[in-house]
Amino acid sequence: MSSFWDKQIERADLLAEQSSGSKELLHFYAQLLRAQKEIYESFRGRTHWLPSGDLEQDVSVVQSSMSGLLQRVARNGPESLAEEAQALLNTEADAMAQDLLNYWRSPSDMQFFAKSVLQPYARWLAETSTTPVGRELAGGERTCPFCGGKPQLAFLQSRESAESGTRELLCATCLSSWEFRRVVCANCGEERPAKLGYFHTPEFDHIRIEACDSCKHYIKGIDLTRFGLAVPLVDELYAAPLDLWAHEHGYTKIELNLIGL
Ligand SMILES: [Zn+2]
Ligand SMILES: [Zn+2]
Repeated sequence: MSSFWDKQIERADLLAEQSSGSKELLHFYAQLLRAQKEIYESFRGRTHWLPSGDLEQDVSVVQSSMSGLLQRVARNGPESLAEEAQALLNTEADAMAQDLLNYWRSPSDMQFFAKSVLQPYARWLAETSTTPVGRELAGGERTCPFCGGKPQLAFLQSRESAESGTRELLCATCLSSWEFRRVVCANCGEERPAKLGYFHTPEFDHIRIEACDSCKHYIKGIDLTRFGLAVPLVDELYAAPLDLWAHEHGYTKIELNLIGL
């Protein structure tokens, strides 16, 4: 019952084989996804335990699930992350637990390890309909209705009821998605078409940059109506060259992905 994680892993493995520019990133991400799947399964497989939704109560379980991920990153990660992982393996459990709680209350896309381990935790909360506690974040339609997380990406998919497909935002914390209006900035809510721009290259035919000139932020959009085999979380990362274009044009990403792009 890990079909979500398996789907991401298979796609990352496949793209890592095919891709030239993002090969190393995708290999690393495939390893990371495997570690996240192990964390997720360690939660599911715990006997007589369900998450409370209150990370203060659950933090020892979450923290104790991390060593596999830290070891993988220490072995396969880019140098700076590998060093950090090694240092964390030698850190007191209390310090790591504090990092996790800080992230939970005030998420930052720069906190790689906390984000990596809390994604499977928050996903498990979402799947068990356990209300997260201490995540009373911004609120409103531009953050996740379940956990208050920021959007990691947007995707379009066909729905029988909608002629041209519906747009959804995928949460960077719990990885669930919610429907969102099509021509609106996911960061500031700008709706004027003249302020919203798109950038796209033939190399990534089903992926585009959706940029806003009012707040100067952007998000990537994955179009599943053009290419149904895409897996948004992985394809977003695969299209790393588009981030370069966005940065060169002065746009800031709403939420960096796990690879830090
Ligand atoms: Zn969420
Ligand atoms: Zn905006």
